[in-house]
Amino acid sequence: MLTSSMIKEAALSAGADMCGIGPVSRFDGAPDEMNPQFLFPEAKSIIGFVFRIPRGVQRGIEEGTQFFQYPSMSYGGINEIFAPAVLYHVSKVIEDAGYEAFVYRNTGARGVVSDMDGSPGSNLSPEEQIEVIEHAKTAAAHHRNVQFTRPVREGSVAPDLQFQFRLAAVACGLGEIGWSKMLLTGKFGPMQRLAFILTDAQLEYDEMYSGEPLCRKCGACVRECPGGCIPPINSGKAISVNIDGKICEWGDIDMWRCYAFYTHAGRHYNPFVPKEVWDKNESGSFDLMEGVTDIANEQEIIKIYTALQKYFPSWVGYNMAKCGGCIRACVSALEKKGGCLEGRFKNPLRTKKPWRLDR
Ligand code: SF4
Ligand code: SF4
Repeated sequence: MLTSSMIKEAALSAGADMCGIGPVSRFDGAPDEMNPQFLFPEAKSIIGFVFRIPRGVQRGIEEGTQFFQYPSMSYGGINEIFAPAVLYHVSKVIEDAGYEAFVYRNTGARGVVSDMDGSPGSNLSPEEQIEVIEHAKTAAAHHRNVQFTRPVREGSVAPDLQFQFRLAAVACGLGEIGWSKMLLTGKFGPMQRLAFILTDAQLEYDEMYSGEPLCRKCGACVRECPGGCIPPINSGKAISVNIDGKICEWGDIDMWRCYAFYTHAGRHYNPFVPKEVWDKNESGSFDLMEGVTDIANEQEIIKIYTALQKYFPSWVGYNMAKCGGCIRACVSALEKKGGCLEGRFKNPLRTKKPWRLDR
C-alpha cells in the first residue's frame, strides 16, 4: 500500500530537502484559472517538494563579485535539473503502486493569467492573436502568460493552467508566505524553490503550518529592494488569501516593477551597465528604473530588456537575476533577529555594510 512515508522517503533520498502532502480539496474556491483541481480532476492529493537554495549561491551578489551562480544554479539548476529528477523518481514510486503521478515542475510565465499581476490573458482566439502579435513588431515577449490558447471543452479552463506555487506549498504544510511574497520555511527561511505532484492516491496529510509566524514583519525586504517594489509593512497594501481556513497575507508587490529590477537592478546595483547608459536614457528606455515614470507594465519592461540585454553574455535559459535583495535582506534579518534561521550557519551571511554604487 502506498503511504505518505514511502513518498517522503523517496523524495528525500532522491534529493528533495523537504516534502509535504495535502488534500487537493484545500484549493476549493480558488480561481478556476489557478486551481490545480482542473489539472487532474480525479486527484486527491498534492505533494509539495522543497529544494533549498544554498546560501552561498548568493555570496557573489552579496560581495558584488559574481552574479552568474545565482540565476544559473538556483533558477536554471533547480528548475531544470535537480527538481525534475526528483519528480521523475517519485512518480515511479507512485505509479508502481498503481496510482497516477501528474508531475508539475516550475513553469513560470505560461499560465492563462499573468504571473506578474494576475491580469487575464488574451480573450482573442489564437487565430486572432497571431494577427495582433505580427503587428506588434517586438522581438521580446514579456506577457508573462500564454497568448495562444482556448479551453478544449465546456466547463474547463484554457491551457496551460499554472497554479500559485507558494500557496500550494502552504497547502502542503511546508511553510508560510512572508511579507515579501516569498515562501518562508522553518528550515531554509526564504531560500528554496518548489515542485509538485498531483496524484489520485489517498494519503495521510500534513497539517498546515501553525507555529510562531515565520515572517517577523521586520521590513528588511522593504528597505533593501532596489526598486521600492515592496510596500511598507503598515501601509495597508496587503493581499490576503484564505486557504482552507489559513489566512495568508503579504505585501502587494508591484510585480512588473520587480520584473525590471530583479534582473537589471538599476544604476546603483548593476555593475555591468556603464553609467553613461543610465545617464543617456536613450528613447526613455529607463524611465521606470530612473524614476521618470512610476507606471510599471509590459511596455516599460520590453523597453528595458531590449536596451539592456546586450550587457549580459549568457542567460542560462532564465533571466540573469542580479538582485535577490529581498532574499538576502530576509536571510540576514532572520539570522540576526532570532527568526527561523538563527544558529543555522556558523557565520552570518552579512558581516559588512551592503554595497551600493555611488553614481
Ligand atoms: S527581487 Fe529584487 S526587485 Fe524584486 S522585490 Fe525582491 S528586492 Fe525588489
Ligand atoms: S525580511 Fe522581514 S518582513 Fe520581509 S519577509 Fe523576511 S521576515 Fe518578513
